[in-house]
Amino acid sequence: MAHAAPIDLRSDTVTRPTAAMRAAMLAAPVGDDVFGDDPTVNALQARIAEMLGFEAALFVPTGTQSNLCALLAHCQRGDEYIVGQMQHCYRWEGGGAAVLGSIQPQPLEHQADGTLALADIEAAIKPDDAHFARSRLLALENTLGGRLLPFDYVQRATALAQSRGLSRHLDGARLFNAATAQAQATGGDVRSEARRIAQCFDSVSVCFSKGLGAPVGSALCGSRDFIARAHRVRKMAGGGMRQAGMLAAAALHALDHHVDRLADDHALARRLAQGLDGIEGLTVQAPHTNIVFVDLTGAAQERAAALLPSLEAQGILATGLYRLRFVTHLDVDAAGVDRAVAAIRAFFKA
Ligand SMILES: *Cc1c(COP(=O)(O)O)cnc(C)c1O
Repeated sequence: MAHAAPIDLRSDTVTRPTAAMRAAMLAAPVGDDVFGDDPTVNALQARIAEMLGFEAALFVPTGTQSNLCALLAHCQRGDEYIVGQMQHCYRWEGGGAAVLGSIQPQPLEHQADGTLALADIEAAIKPDDAHFARSRLLALENTLGGRLLPFDYVQRATALAQSRGLSRHLDGARLFNAATAQAQATGGDVRSEARRIAQCFDSVSVCFSKGLGAPVGSALCGSRDFIARAHRVRKMAGGGMRQAGMLAAAALHALDHHVDRLADDHALARRLAQGLDGIEGLTVQAPHTNIVFVDLTGAAQERAAALLPSLEAQGILATGLYRLRFVTHLDVDAAGVDRAVAAIRAFFKA
């Protein structure tokens, strides 16, 4: 294998903490967060809540636990949440809401742009009748598979939910990527756009361990009462951490230093998409943010199984088969993207 560092485009979760982030982690004042004594965790929770316009926040080890805490804090057993088929908190979290909360999911098909049709949401809300689970919550995800949900859609869907008495949760694992794309479209500022999206919801989960580049951690934001309920679920789920300030310090560092640079990841994703454009048998989706999907058709499909091993032998990592996924992040640069493009072009030319 090549001596150069691998070009790892599998996910934005593969980033390693930078030297400056590690220094911030080492320097963090800590305490026992189960006693509420960790000043760095407390600072992070106050910071993200304030940034997104909520009363309170809770630091959790993973995005999965954050969504679980949210679903169980919003819903009682026998309640249901309306969610998209492809959303993480329905499809990719081991059915945790059902397993641990006896909460029934009501999954809906996505439209081509990733949204859930308002008519489908409306039709899924059950009347108050003993036959039905109680419709309690609408959960959306933004970005969804790297796609930005149109802001007017987010406003309308959440207004509909609210008018029907449902609470609203946003899985904003990549909220700051969404805000970056939205800011580019509106000419606005990334932090204001993040807050504008977040304020359509009663609760928001954000990951620090994806594009923001922290090693571990997510935050759940909401009202004081909601976060108190979520705190109980976090304890039950085994997420009460002790001197977690070392991890919270990484997240604080990310909020200070890695938000504005997400635009660089998006530019690299566009560079990758443009580089792959025009290869016979490849259909490249123009990326909204840092994720590029490429569909293989016809003769390209017949060679699909050989592609990733060939790339891996050259130190280039990605995921997928007939639909490839490439994710840009803090630890890839333009030279790496260009090497990946050249290797893929060479593979299909051979
Ligand atoms: C990654 C991700 C999560 C879960 O994060 P983990 O920290 O891996 O548990 C939740 N929602 C979305 C949209 C994600 O992309």
